[in-house]
Amino acid sequence: MKSYVFTHGEEHFSPEGAVSLTTSAHDHNLEVERQEIAHLQTAPDRVFLYVTESTIVKSCCRLAVKHGTGEAGCPICRTRLADMQKGPAITTWLGTHIATHVELGPVYKIPAFGGWPSSRQSVRCRINGVQYHGTYYKSSGNYCRLQKSKRQPTK
Ligand SMILES: [Zn+2]
Repeated sequence: MKSYVFTHGEEHFSPEGAVSLTTSAHDHNLEVERQEIAHLQTAPDRVFLYVTESTIVKSCCRLAVKHGTGEAGCPICRTRLADMQKGPAITTWLGTHIATHVELGPVYKIPAFGGWPSSRQSVRCRINGVQYHGTYYKSSGNYCRLQKSKRQPTK
């Protein structure tokens, strides 16, 4: 499978280094994502994806959080603080949501030798109805490595 690319100045880079493209980086990445989503439909044993921890949906609520809403919640739409955030999501690199039933476990720390400890969280989710579990490398980036669970949800 091809890699996503990012553009810096006039050059395109994949994780493997500089690449030359026959299309725009945007079109290239959309094609990579299309292949990735098609691949996920085959229920692969191991996948590498991204985590969005939670998102505040409405702009009025984002402002309220920024300025400190307190227990009263959002002054515009009256949403309570606890209800403002959508739960965590598993996405492609481009941010397309591709999982349901996303659950993050408690944060735990891995001691580091000569650096900052790294924090991780366990992840559970379903992709096309298939149960996956794995690790979210919280402090290393927003990525996770997941594997298909032996125990699958009963339909
Ligand atoms: Zn609001």
